[in-house]
Amino acid sequence: MIIVLKPEATEAQIKHIVTKVKSIGLKPMISRGAERTIIGVIGEEDLLRVQPLEVFPGVEKVMPVLAPYKLVSREFKPADTIIEVNGVKIGGKKVAVLAGPCAIENFELLLSIARSVKKAGASVLRGGAFKPRTSPYSFQGLGEEGLKFLAEAKKRTGLPVITELMDLRDLELIERHADIIQIGARNMQNFDLLKEVGRSKKPVLLKRGMAATIKEWLLSAEYILQNGNFNVILCERGIRTFETEARYTLDINAVPLIKSLSHLPIVVDPSHSSGRWGLVPAIAKAAVAAGADGIIVEVHAKPEEALCDGPQSMLPEKFAKLMVELRKVARAVGREI
Ligand code: PEP
Ligand code: MN
Repeated sequence: MIIVLKPEATEAQIKHIVTKVKSIGLKPMISRGAERTIIGVIGEEDLLRVQPLEVFPGVEKVMPVLAPYKLVSREFKPADTIIEVNGVKIGGKKVAVLAGPCAIENFELLLSIARSVKKAGASVLRGGAFKPRTSPYSFQGLGEEGLKFLAEAKKRTGLPVITELMDLRDLELIERHADIIQIGARNMQNFDLLKEVGRSKKPVLLKRGMAATIKEWLLSAEYILQNGNFNVILCERGIRTFETEARYTLDINAVPLIKSLSHLPIVVDPSHSSGRWGLVPAIAKAAVAAGADGIIVEVHAKPEEALCDGPQSMLPEKFAKLMVELRKVARAVGREI
């Protein structure tokens, strides 16, 4: 349910409505737009039958949110959500670039990749310590040791860091070392994990499941917001289709669709969607042109020796070249990098 206030509604009237909403056991969330303020109301909407809010001074109308997801919807919060991580904004005018290796393999390699992506203009360092691998015989990640390397790379470069959480039991550990928690495609509908990161204070990057519809993806994000964490970044990373030439099929429609359906920022992962480093530059540029708020790219100094996702990892110099091209695309669509 959303309460749309009149443009001339006063602070006292807003406060009065908020107090009333709380007193009947509902949770108000204020969203201040350039022209008017909207108050989103969460909870048992039947309670509003007893206390119709239309009659309150300052209220223009009270409307139900028709989408199945509520808190993540544009109706609920018309203004874009901008997430700030250690001074880096995701969702604003500036396109965020998150880059780094698929997996953290050793400290020297991580630091050298971190330094090169920073030099090229990346704003966040990525690196997995807990890896969701299809085969149990593949490298599973360094675990806690990897997180320590990541934290040290952050200290040395100043780049905030993102890493994947797979198991509820690792949440505290990851919160201690990472600035953004990544929920991978395979866990997009791990609802217990979503509820738990919903209680975290750290921003969450929620990847789209490879067989998830946009509605299912947004409902998964709703779990996180519903538990109190509004700092969610959506990530389109390719879906499974009949096409086998590339690893997945990037759903570029998702970018403008998410922008119209939700206030949350969306980033695109051209590395996992294509599975081939040679395809990454074109797809990254298309994502920025389509309005993505960022890209997350895998970069490795020795892709042929990488323990995970080598074929889709860019060499640092290729990544630096991509950044130059991306800046031009960003400028052409009224953004910056
Ligand atoms: C990753 O980012 O390395 C990863 C495993 O991504 P996804 O969950 O999209 O497959
Ligand atoms: Mn990967």
